[in-house]
Amino acid sequence: MAYNPQKLEKKWQKIWEKTRLFKTPDKSKKPKFYCLDMFPYPSAEGLHVGHLRGYTFSDVISKKKMMEGYNVLHPMGFDAFGLPAENFAIKTGIHPAISTKKAISNIKKQLLSAGFGYDWQREICSSQPDYYKWTQWMFLQLYKRDLAYKKEAPVNFCPSCKTVLAREQVIDGKCERCDSLVEKKYLKQWFFKITNYAERLLNDLNKIDWPEKIKIMQRNWIGKSEGTEIKFLISNGAQPKVGRVGGGLESQFLINVFTTRADTLFGCTYVVIAPEHPLIEELKSQIENWKEVEKYIEEAKKKTEIERLAEEKAKTGIELKGIKAVNPINNQEVPIFVADYVLMEYGTGAIMAVPAHDQRDFIFAKKYNLPIIEVIKSANGKKHKFSQAVDESKDSSPATERAKRSEGRKEETFFDFANARVFEEDGILINSGPFSELKSEKAREEITKYLRKRNLGQTAIYYKLRDWLISRQRYWGAPIPIIYCPKCGEVPVPEKDLPVKLPKIKDFKPTGKGESPLAKSKKFVKVKCPKCGALAKRETDTLDTFVCSSWYFLRYADPENKKEPFGKLKVKNWLPVDLYIGGAEHAVMHLLYARFFTKFLFDQKLIYIEEDKSSSLPSLKRSAFDEPFLKLFNQGTVYRQGAKMSKSKGNVVTPDHIIQKFGADTMRLYELFMGPADQATEWSDKGVIGMYRFLNKVWNLQKKIKSQKSKIKTTTQNLKLLHQTIKKVTEDIESFRFNTAVSALMILVNEVEKIPKLPIANYQLLLKLLAPMAPHLTEELWQKLGNPEGKPSASYGAGKKSIFLEKWPEYDSKLIREEIVTLVIQVNGKVRDKIEVEADISREKAKELAFSQKKVKNWIEGKEIKKVIFVPGKLINVVI
Ligand SMILES: [Zn+2]
Ligand SMILES: [Zn+2]
Repeated sequence: MAYNPQKLEKKWQKIWEKTRLFKTPDKSKKPKFYCLDMFPYPSAEGLHVGHLRGYTFSDVISKKKMMEGYNVLHPMGFDAFGLPAENFAIKTGIHPAISTKKAISNIKKQLLSAGFGYDWQREICSSQPDYYKWTQWMFLQLYKRDLAYKKEAPVNFCPSCKTVLAREQVIDGKCERCDSLVEKKYLKQWFFKITNYAERLLNDLNKIDWPEKIKIMQRNWIGKSEGTEIKFLISNGAQPKVGRVGGGLESQFLINVFTTRADTLFGCTYVVIAPEHPLIEELKSQIENWKEVEKYIEEAKKKTEIERLAEEKAKTGIELKGIKAVNPINNQEVPIFVADYVLMEYGTGAIMAVPAHDQRDFIFAKKYNLPIIEVIKSANGKKHKFSQAVDESKDSSPATERAKRSEGRKEETFFDFANARVFEEDGILINSGPFSELKSEKAREEITKYLRKRNLGQTAIYYKLRDWLISRQRYWGAPIPIIYCPKCGEVPVPEKDLPVKLPKIKDFKPTGKGESPLAKSKKFVKVKCPKCGALAKRETDTLDTFVCSSWYFLRYADPENKKEPFGKLKVKNWLPVDLYIGGAEHAVMHLLYARFFTKFLFDQKLIYIEEDKSSSLPSLKRSAFDEPFLKLFNQGTVYRQGAKMSKSKGNVVTPDHIIQKFGADTMRLYELFMGPADQATEWSDKGVIGMYRFLNKVWNLQKKIKSQKSKIKTTTQNLKLLHQTIKKVTEDIESFRFNTAVSALMILVNEVEKIPKLPIANYQLLLKLLAPMAPHLTEELWQKLGNPEGKPSASYGAGKKSIFLEKWPEYDSKLIREEIVTLVIQVNGKVRDKIEVEADISREKAKELAFSQKKVKNWIEGKEIKKVIFVPGKLINVVI
């Protein structure tokens, strides 16, 4: 009978579903293994083979773990709220509730047809009220602890998606979803105070086994800097009143700057503050060029953060005339600039500029003709010759040309910004009064100490991480459970009134006015105040879909719970996730948010069980975890015709197409084989055919079967290869080297093809090894062989076990070990040495070894070698 994947795959999918083979019981004596995929957006186009790569990895690992005796939780669900579903709905006019449902059923069909063993009883869908009820509940918990708040803020607004975006959703100034240039707007928005957790989110990266590149991205995103806050008093020409600050009278205006380089304080020649700095307004009456300053600030407010920080753009600024800042270390007065490259949201919103030791300050100082004072020399004693890096007359590099063309003063037109580098490293202080000759590190300490004594400075820590913007002016999301009462103000919806259901409205298109479409539904907006009963209004913004995905991994442990988001004991049984597989694009969004939620829930003792000392049940022992995903693996992207698969590029391969043609097992095997699992790989149709051929070979091996009773001999060579393959496949799957695991199996099958008869036990071992990768074919053959007694049987369920309930094969370490023999080395027939070698050592290898022996060398060195006689496993004779 020929291999017919279409027929046998459907058959086994039905049987597995009927017998609930992959359903996970909560109670089990086996150790647990929680293997999780990032749940997909239900897009109308369905999944392509690129999406299926990661799912194939997790399925192979889950099936192998199952065979290794683990109770495996491998659930699946849908991240159903959010822009992809909604944008599709807007384009087609179909309500998102309907299109989402359709998309989910399509994707589910695709996943089933690929033979993935998900426990569908635990399926969750984030747009269902029974799920988002608890997402809203999470919001209320954070609100109760003052970790959710509303404030007016400059926000990133996508004019095409007509909604606010989180900072993380803006890539190079463009909307992550639609690539439109993001605009800046001032709107009242909801935030989660993730910044309260900055330090823990940073430190606890050490606790988890994640790819280093993701950890680095998170570290940079959190962006911790330790430094000094330094107070610069403001003078208006009269003598500064230094003493009054320390005296507790804060009447004196001052600028609080943050720097990581207090050692360069003597080199500060100007101070820069952000356009949004409140001090500017306070100093208005003293600023002589107010009109100009005001205009500059207005312009700056329109720019997005990306534009303001862009490296390639010349930095602009304007001096505040009429006032000066006083450097607290030497009482020198320095000019104050407003410049948009300083952000109010970072540090104190003010910096001290040290043009001799900071490239950006240097360029700015050159442009505005400000003094440059060197205060650090390199440790080898040399001063940095930054000014000599410029050859004004000859240089015509593009950078110089650009600088010449750029508007501004005369002197900058000669300056090559790009080629002059200032000395930015640590070194030894010069021109720094009593601190001269100190090393940078020591000087930072000493200068901070000096300032602290005078109440003019202190050590400080700042993070780049900002609070997480969670409100969206869109329809397709979980409504934020807040009510505005004219008497009581902001009132949270009582927990008993959850969920705040998303009404089915016809006009779900975004308004673009910074208001959610829900505002158009009077029925939704109108509500009684839960506190006083007065007529009040509901919040009409919805939650960012990343809120839904920040806790879904907990719900899988207890998906049907109606009273709580999850039962503590069930969460204790399953969490944390042992292995999480998904794309690296979520590094600073989902993966950071989920860690934040887990830490919050841990602090609230919601995923935490106190030890019950009176209980003898081990399950009531204290359990605690504050990291959701112990191990993370990012699968590589699948390319075709050199580009990421996408409908617009027309290079999409659907699993449906491959499965129809070659079967799911072939597709799975190719997903594994196409390249290293964590690297981007190009899809090849030829490669798919290769896998199909391989499976046919495995199928045809059944013709060589002889029952165990016939006692045919397997050659030692083949048995050794079989056990080596068991070892290799076991270890390779464990370390995500799926491609080499597949090729090891291919080598084995090629060898087995050469022998006339195959003992059934060895064939069974091969099938078990292949089972997680090609589940349908192996299950079929396993049943055909009539496991385990050797009686052929084509039925499953008649007392026969699935191959996935069999034990994962173990290798015999004795068989793997190379046999060692003594090899005699002769020179002209006389024994000169003996060495221990592997029995199957090759002629070349034996020659090489023999020639390198000292005793042999003495005899043959400088002589012409006429002949080498090699008797495998016995002797080697060198004739000179
Ligand atoms: Zn957009
Ligand atoms: Zn009220």
